[in-house]
Amino acid sequence: MQPDTSELENFINEQAINNTLEHAANPDRANVLEILSKAREAKGLTLEETATLLQVTDPELDEELFAAARDVKNAIYGNRLVLFAPMYITNECGNSCLYCGFNVTNKDLTRRTLSPEEIRSDVIALEEQGHKRLLLVYGEHPKLKADWIAETVQTVYDTVSEKSGEIRRVNVNCAPLSVEGFRKLQEVGIGTYQCFQETYHEKTYDSVHKGGVKKNFLWRLHALHRAMEAGIEDVGMGALFGLYDYKFEILALLTHAQDLENKFGVGPHTISFPRLEPALNADMAYNPPCPIDDMTFKRIVAILRLAVPYTGLILSTRESAVLRRELLDIGVSQISAGSRTYPGAYSDPEYDRPEVQQFCISDNRSLDEVIRDIVDAGYLPSWCTACYRLGRTGEHFMDLAKRGFIQQYCLPNSLLTFQEYLEDYASESTRKAGKVCITNEVDNCPVERRSVVESRLKRIEQGERDLYL
Ligand code: SAM
Ligand code: SF4
Repeated sequence: MQPDTSELENFINEQAINNTLEHAANPDRANVLEILSKAREAKGLTLEETATLLQVTDPELDEELFAAARDVKNAIYGNRLVLFAPMYITNECGNSCLYCGFNVTNKDLTRRTLSPEEIRSDVIALEEQGHKRLLLVYGEHPKLKADWIAETVQTVYDTVSEKSGEIRRVNVNCAPLSVEGFRKLQEVGIGTYQCFQETYHEKTYDSVHKGGVKKNFLWRLHALHRAMEAGIEDVGMGALFGLYDYKFEILALLTHAQDLENKFGVGPHTISFPRLEPALNADMAYNPPCPIDDMTFKRIVAILRLAVPYTGLILSTRESAVLRRELLDIGVSQISAGSRTYPGAYSDPEYDRPEVQQFCISDNRSLDEVIRDIVDAGYLPSWCTACYRLGRTGEHFMDLAKRGFIQQYCLPNSLLTFQEYLEDYASESTRKAGKVCITNEVDNCPVERRSVVESRLKRIEQGERDLYL
């Protein structure tokens, strides 16, 4: 049965977005440079300014765009990079999304919903790798209710072992719930609730979602509003790039962000921009209607970084290791690593086969290999969960972030969590490279923080865990 959406407004004004893009067409160089110079102040961009950057066709301006994005990323986030893993709880799904391997019509996929015991096995496998932040992912099946989703989250938090550590932040990517349903997730302490609109273009949305509750555009469009109404302060939005015109999708994402900000005083905590990847028996995933090449994808990331400087940008292992590295430089602040997209794949080799995953993964390296690579590239991995655990979320987080707080707290906390990783989980070569990185980074902490950071790093070496500021 479809939920009642008769009262819900479509705040995505397609005509207005198209007009904005049209007015911004053929921008002159001076105007673009002026916008890039304003963007460097890290105060964000208007829809009109973003549209102008989207309409640039002069390849010479691309380098200017990337340089501005690099500067803003550096000024706000430094070289820190947050790491997480997705964990699929179920691939049972009643929807018919033409691009997804979990589509209800895919009879070749073995459906699996993890039992509490199976959840514990996967969590332990992830903990043994060193993960502290998970994104739980669920198909949308009528039998899978909010109470059950909340129980699965609780099972993850409860899976603590002396040997392998614990998961400290559980984010959730599940189908839209009612406000009452979201309250249940809020009560078990989820971090971010994530839901991608896939496409904000209603006609395209209708044509790619053939059946099931997901066919209801407005129900999904208001999912993050309902989550916030239920008290979940961190929400994550996204679009699936390849379904429709990317310029439209970016302006629509920003319109969505503005609507949340107007109504709740705070925009999204994160934005994701998955690109369509091949998926079992999903023809559309092999032939995207609006394919995005790598250069355009880079421009998308850079423009988002300038448009919403304080919003986390998330990149998954759908992208190759080489491209991922480039995207880190110009805007991405969180990445997944060592990912599997089939329930149970972390602990049971039977489910760890490429052909059964939700979509193809391009970056197949282990967490340790990814860490080693990003450290060599000059980044600092972080598993920090301090803000969420100290209630620095939503509006409060944004407010602090805008006052240079990231350098004061996030850098020290990255170092402390990285030290734990090196002590407990790293391979010998990663450990060596990581120790050098930490020693160098301590000098980049604000002077007044250095001694406390040094003493806590030592305490971690001596066996204490979970220290944060
Ligand atoms: N079932 C829930 C939903 O649809 O919102 C959540 C889980 S779904 C597996 C998570 C996301 O995977 C979707 O929102 C979609 O953007 C993405 N996805 C689906 N098929 C994909 C594909 N072939 N390539 C890349 N991403 C895909
Ligand atoms: Fe189901 Fe989500 Fe895949 Fe659609 S994208 S088929 S809702 S799992």
